[in-house]
Amino acid sequence: MERPLFYSLSPKSLKSFLESNGQKAFVATQILKWVYEKYEFNPENWTNISKNLKDLLLENFDFNLPRIVWNGLSKDGTRKFLVAMRDDKTVETVMIPARSNRKTLCVSSQVGCAIGCTFCHTGTMGLMRHLEAGEIIGQFLAVTKFLRDKVGPEERLSNVVFMGQGEPLHNFENVKVATELMVNEKALGLSQRRVTISTSGLVPQIKKLDDFPPVNIAISLHAAHNDIRTELMPINKAFDLDRLLGAIKEIPLKAHRYITYEYLLIDQYNDRAEDVTALLNLLPKKVSKINLIPFNEYPESNFKRPSVSRINWFKNQLEDGGITTTIRTTKGSDILAACGQLKSELEKDANLWD
Ligand code: SF4
Repeated sequence: MERPLFYSLSPKSLKSFLESNGQKAFVATQILKWVYEKYEFNPENWTNISKNLKDLLLENFDFNLPRIVWNGLSKDGTRKFLVAMRDDKTVETVMIPARSNRKTLCVSSQVGCAIGCTFCHTGTMGLMRHLEAGEIIGQFLAVTKFLRDKVGPEERLSNVVFMGQGEPLHNFENVKVATELMVNEKALGLSQRRVTISTSGLVPQIKKLDDFPPVNIAISLHAAHNDIRTELMPINKAFDLDRLLGAIKEIPLKAHRYITYEYLLIDQYNDRAEDVTALLNLLPKKVSKINLIPFNEYPESNFKRPSVSRINWFKNQLEDGGITTTIRTTKGSDILAACGQLKSELEKDANLWD
């Protein structure tokens, strides 16, 4: 049987493992510093750890990071990685530069996806398997190592969004453990406000979100009418807008401040005056923010991208109605229009990448 991944282990579980093997609990802090502060992933190089303990750790855990098998750099600085797990299954991970030297990592949570959104390439693959918590954390560590080795030792990732392949809440327990490791100060130590879970709207799991660290929540809404949303996202048949908004109201908002709604804007389809009215009626104004994602056309797509004036009109209507609205514009970010569009965009938009 394969050894468990070390990067799935919480600081608390590491401590218990050490104590149950006759080791002092404080050694956990030294080990975590090697991994999460010094980015040294080979226990053989940990100078303040005894040989016996290194052997014990290596016998019990797998310290290998996922392998970066390909990477490409976009003109705007976005870098895309194809990352292979130990069973050789691959997922995509994207690093997006932002203001003030910040860098966001968009991680995948599953190989494939069971949700089947009609605009999404990953949706056509079906679900192959869930990623383990350590494979999600491993994406962060592998990209950090890549950046430090290839760009400079000061390179750091500051934010994480779960908008890569997969529906994060379908892989609830592993994503929860990964999120806890992300915000734990002894592990990745990210601020809760710099981690975002994005969901297509799995209502039963949304109801369990109070179990999660209070990170940001984004909902892939894409339509304010049930018939349109069902066409785009078959999950709407099981969990329609009433049930979805009912569950969202239960999310404790103290730390979240607001919920972000992702809205793929498609010409003459969901960009009409009646869509504005429906959105304004649907969403609670003070605690909602809408992120408009103008559709990215590709040769065989049935949908069209709205004109710039139409996009701006739609945004202004929502803002006039009292909802903070942003437009996702840059090319590198466009590929994140939907979780799971990454692979198809890579194929369709090869010119974007080196
Ligand atoms: S958009 Fe996200 S939830 Fe929908 S099929 Fe693609 S990966 Fe799954």
